[in-house]
Amino acid sequence: MSRIWVLGAGQLGAMLKQAATPLGLDVRPVDIETKEVLPLHEDDIVTAEREDWPETEATKQLASHKNFVNLSTFPQLADRLTQKQWIDKLDLATAPWFAVEDDSTAQKAYDQLGERVLMKRRRGGYDGKGQYWLKQAEGTEIPEDWKGLAIAEQAINFDEEVSVVGVRGKNGEKYFYPLTLNLHINGILYASVSPLDRLKPLQAKAEAMLGKLMDALDYVGVMAMECFRIGDDLLINELAPRVHNSGHWTQAGASVNQFENHIRAVAGLPLAPAEIKNQSMMVNLIGVDVDYNWLASKGLELYWYKKEVRRGRKVGHLNACSGDIGQLKAILNDLSNMPAPYDEALSWLESNLS
Ligand code: ATP
Ligand code: MG
Ligand code: MG
Repeated sequence: MSRIWVLGAGQLGAMLKQAATPLGLDVRPVDIETKEVLPLHEDDIVTAEREDWPETEATKQLASHKNFVNLSTFPQLADRLTQKQWIDKLDLATAPWFAVEDDSTAQKAYDQLGERVLMKRRRGGYDGKGQYWLKQAEGTEIPEDWKGLAIAEQAINFDEEVSVVGVRGKNGEKYFYPLTLNLHINGILYASVSPLDRLKPLQAKAEAMLGKLMDALDYVGVMAMECFRIGDDLLINELAPRVHNSGHWTQAGASVNQFENHIRAVAGLPLAPAEIKNQSMMVNLIGVDVDYNWLASKGLELYWYKKEVRRGRKVGHLNACSGDIGQLKAILNDLSNMPAPYDEALSWLESNLS
């Protein structure tokens, strides 16, 4: 079988490779800074673990391959401006917004969007980086270096944050994982739980929204849609044309996880309507060192990315799946010595287990 090249060699690339191994598929994550000449064959396949990339020797080689799946879609979703335009064009709900232009003023933002407005860099933001709050009460102005490079969004007073991960095949067939409930602290994902009975009534709506986007883009592979839940409504926060952190629990909790389904899709193999095993929870490891004592916690699975630990940096995650809520609670108890803000994340998980 042909090889599958992944643009990017971070944790997502590593987990794509890991998921493809039992299938006997040769997945090769590529460090975008490599100067090597990649031995690309005509019938190889190219995918990406990130939606945006600089032009380097490596990315130029990959992007010129005829089998780079979704190549023309990436720039459209990597730029928040064109991403929002797609959402609007398809008549899907999203936070009200406008493009921050050279002549935009904070006053326009307050008049159009209200007294609290979140500016987001059009490109490159992640984990809440690339955000800037405009607050009318504090008289915040738009910094010059944000003009032309950002969108402005209404502050949404949401009930909670949820996401859905879907996969679409070359023939248009689609499958979705159950909605995931997510906790972000300071713009960064700390914990997820799925499935939840109380989110089931929103599942069909979420699938229809993400399905419409994937169809319109003729997208192949895994895509994630992050939403704000306000009562029975879902407002799209953002889209990620790749495997997604809020789908990491599927490694423990689904018969076929998001990484394998992405590989299956880009390789043109049959997709799996994943069987959900039990309730799953995921805890991101952010700026904390690995603690192998975690392995003594019954049912806990560790993914350590072997990255240098830095404050605010995602360096791993923990998964657990069980039909026994007592066991999940025991795991949370085993993690109770983690530093702040894990106290908040763990008690949030505990209160959402059902
Ligand atoms: P990610 O790591 O998920 O890619 P990101 O940096 O691309 O994050 P967003 O997902 O747009 O950024 O925002 C990060 C978080 O900031 C959201 O999960 C949410 O908690 C908060 N946030 C984003 N937009 C709004 C908004 N319009 N109103 C209120 N809070 C918001
Ligand atoms: Mg994002
Ligand atoms: Mg996000």
